[in-house]
Amino acid sequence: MRIFYRLCKMSSIMPPPQSLLKPMNFPRKSLYGPGPSNCPPRVLAACALPLLGHCHPEFFQIMDEIKEGVQYAFQTQNELTLAISGTGHAGMEAAVCNMVEPKDVVVVFSAGLWGERFADMAERHDADVRVVEKPMGAVFTLDDVKQALDHHKPSVAFIAHSESSSTVMQPLEGIGDLCKSHNCILIVDCVASLGGAPMFMDQWNIDVLYSGSQKVLSCPPGAAPISLNQRARNKLAARKTKVRSFYLDMNWLGNYWGCDGQPRKYHHTGPISSMYALREGLSMLVEEGLEECQARHQKCANILYEGLEKMGLKPFVKNKAHRLPTLTAVEVPDGIDWKKVSQYAMDKYKIELAGGLGASAGKVWRLGFMGYNAQPENVRTTLRVLQEGIEWYRNSPQSKL
Ligand SMILES: *Cc1c(COP(=O)(O)O)cnc(C)c1O
Repeated sequence: MRIFYRLCKMSSIMPPPQSLLKPMNFPRKSLYGPGPSNCPPRVLAACALPLLGHCHPEFFQIMDEIKEGVQYAFQTQNELTLAISGTGHAGMEAAVCNMVEPKDVVVVFSAGLWGERFADMAERHDADVRVVEKPMGAVFTLDDVKQALDHHKPSVAFIAHSESSSTVMQPLEGIGDLCKSHNCILIVDCVASLGGAPMFMDQWNIDVLYSGSQKVLSCPPGAAPISLNQRARNKLAARKTKVRSFYLDMNWLGNYWGCDGQPRKYHHTGPISSMYALREGLSMLVEEGLEECQARHQKCANILYEGLEKMGLKPFVKNKAHRLPTLTAVEVPDGIDWKKVSQYAMDKYKIELAGGLGASAGKVWRLGFMGYNAQPENVRTTLRVLQEGIEWYRNSPQSKL
């Protein structure tokens, strides 16, 4: 070691970092927050399979199967359906950069962090962004949507189906029809709801829909399902300017994913292991059935609501019909430090009780039971741990904490 160090000094190479000579530290944790959720062993095993080349026929077949799985999860026949190589944000960026051209009027229905983020991204593409804002926890009515479309006459509109900062699930029926009649492209974010709540891309006339892999699909983060319908493809084809991201250009991606009937060309190296995992996560969804999977999430949500009520705790979203079945914000009672209670749950039980996000930070816990984690016993355990943590906090003198 000493000789090696001297050698390094002589040639002035940085010494090797000692930290990398130790094994990685990763305790097993129960990830009952807004994602990532725990991966089932089957998905983890898929990640460990030997690599194929990113343009080998066997990998193309896996990509084709992923496409079919995404079409099923989205309930769409759209040909241009694939998985972006990146997390949910990459799906969001892809939706923005392919649909938005400079000076396009973009209406963003915003009642939480995801509306804010979308507006930020659209601004980066020089759109004329009009934010229609509501307080966290609120949903937009068809009347709100119609008024905004009449007033702003946008060419693109965004709304989050799963506003995971407030844990609201925005009703979508009718919004797509309104956008269509106003000649406006509707982009919807369903990252936190896909698989856990009904989604009908075609029936609901959604033009662009994107999601993520690490929530209900219980895969590692790194693949973002996305689909564009014919209206969205027409807007893409009619662009006067190039898509500003090469990596996320749906023309190129559609070719790599075999969606345009042309021979597939190298665009980028598909993240092989992430795609194996997504293929496995989608297989599990298909085996269980979409409706059964959604029912399992709703059942867990109902057990959670009942348990919270017994404990005198209140979900942040008052109207049951507007709650996300996958993720629930729970109001932190007066006099309780949410962070200390979460720390208690992590230290003692390795259970993640996540905090709020954006404007809900500090005011709520967000409890998520997604995919592999959506099991009644996990919900019951979490309820017990939350109760124990709150009692522990109430009974501990502040100075001892
Ligand atoms: C988690 C989430 C995202 C972002 O996904 P990343 O994988 O973190 O990039 C986007 N939208 C919603 C609604 C989410 O819940």
